[in-house]
Amino acid sequence: MKVSPSIQNLVPYQPGKPISEVQREYGLSRVIKLASNENPLGVSPKVKAAMEQAMAEIHRYPDPGCFELRQALASYWKVPADQIAIGNGSNELIDLLVRIFCEPGEAILTSQSAFVAYAVCAQAARVRVLKTPLTPSFGMDLGAMAKVLREHPAKEDVRLVFLPNPNNPTGTYIKRSDLEEFLQEFGKDPDRLMVVMDEAYTEFVTAKDCPNALELRSRFPALLVLRTLSKVYGLAGLRLGALVAPVGVLDFIHRVRNPFNVNSLAQAAAIAALKDLDFLNSVVLLNTQELQKSYIELEKLGLSVVPSQANFVLFDTHRDAMRVFEELLRRGVILRPVGNYGLPRHLRMSMGLPEENAEAYRVLAEVLPTIPKNP
Ligand SMILES: *Cc1c(COP(=O)(O)O)cnc(C)c1O
Repeated sequence: MKVSPSIQNLVPYQPGKPISEVQREYGLSRVIKLASNENPLGVSPKVKAAMEQAMAEIHRYPDPGCFELRQALASYWKVPADQIAIGNGSNELIDLLVRIFCEPGEAILTSQSAFVAYAVCAQAARVRVLKTPLTPSFGMDLGAMAKVLREHPAKEDVRLVFLPNPNNPTGTYIKRSDLEEFLQEFGKDPDRLMVVMDEAYTEFVTAKDCPNALELRSRFPALLVLRTLSKVYGLAGLRLGALVAPVGVLDFIHRVRNPFNVNSLAQAAAIAALKDLDFLNSVVLLNTQELQKSYIELEKLGLSVVPSQANFVLFDTHRDAMRVFEELLRRGVILRPVGNYGLPRHLRMSMGLPEENAEAYRVLAEVLPTIPKNP
C-alpha cells in the first residue's frame, strides 16, 4: 500500500469521550458529559415535530440545493440565498475550502491552539499549515499573522487564513477594530488569499466589541464566513454548517461537494430550529448565567480561568491536566483535555445544565487535592 506521508502522519481527530464508553469502562450509571460544547437544553420541540413530518418522504433523495433552508437562513442573516452553501457540518465546508483553494504544497495560516479541523483538513490535502503563537491572554495574534503574510518566505503560498471567532478551545475573541485593520490589508484581494471567519459560537457572544463578520462582507470581498447549527441550535448530530461567500466561491463548492451532502431530516430540522427564537434565547441566557458562575466556582478552586465568549470555558489546572481528566472520568465527569492544542495543563469545560456544572465543580474539588501541582 502506498500512502502519502502527510496521510500517514495524520493524527485522527479526538472527539470528546462518549457517555456510553465511560459508563462501560468505569462501571458507572450516571455520567455527565461536558466535553463537546453540545447544547445542554437539547433541541427545540419544534425540531422533533418537523423531523417526524419529514420522515414521510425519507425514501426520496433530499433537495440537493437545500433551497428552503437557504431561504430561511438568508432571511435571518440578511444575506442573499445564493451566497449561502450548506455543508455536512461546517467541517465539510472547511475541507472543501482547503481542497478547492489550496494546491498541494501551498499553505493555510491559522493560530496555535485554534480549532484543529483546519490543520487536519489541510494535512489530508497535502497543504502546509502555518501557525502563529497565541498572545499571553490566549487570544489570536493578528499582528503576528499579518507579519507572516508580509514577511514569511512562504507568504505567496498562503491561500486561506482561518480565524475562529470566538476560538475553540480558548473561548477568546478578536476585537472588531483589530479584525478590520487586518482585513484592510488582507481582506480585499481574493486572488491573493481569502480570510475565513469561523463563527461557530457567534450567537453566545456578549462582548460589544466582538464583530459579526456578516456585516463586514460588503467591504471585504475576500472575507468568507462559516456558521454552524451544531452549537446554539443543538443539531450537532444532524451535521449542518453554512458558508456565506461570494457566488464565485460557492460555484466551486457546488462542483466539488457531494450532491446530497445534507440529508432531508437535517434540512427539515434546521428550518424548524431557526424559527424557534424563544428556544434560542433560552439557550443563550442559560449559557451566559452558567459562564459567569463558572468563573467564580473555578477560581474558588484555585484554577485560572480564560474569560470566554462561547459555550465553554478553558482553565488552567496548574497540574498535569491528563491526570485531572482521568480522575474526573472515574467519577463520571467528562471534560476535554487540550494537550493536542499545546495546552497540557488546561481543561475545557462545556457549559451544561446548572446541576451538571455544579456536580463538575464538586468532583473537581474532590480530585484536585489528590494531584500534585506542577511547579
Ligand atoms: C464546533 C465547531 C464547529 C462546528 O463544526 P460542525 O462540523 O459544524 O459541527 C466549527 N468551528 C469551530 C471553531 C467549532 O468549535
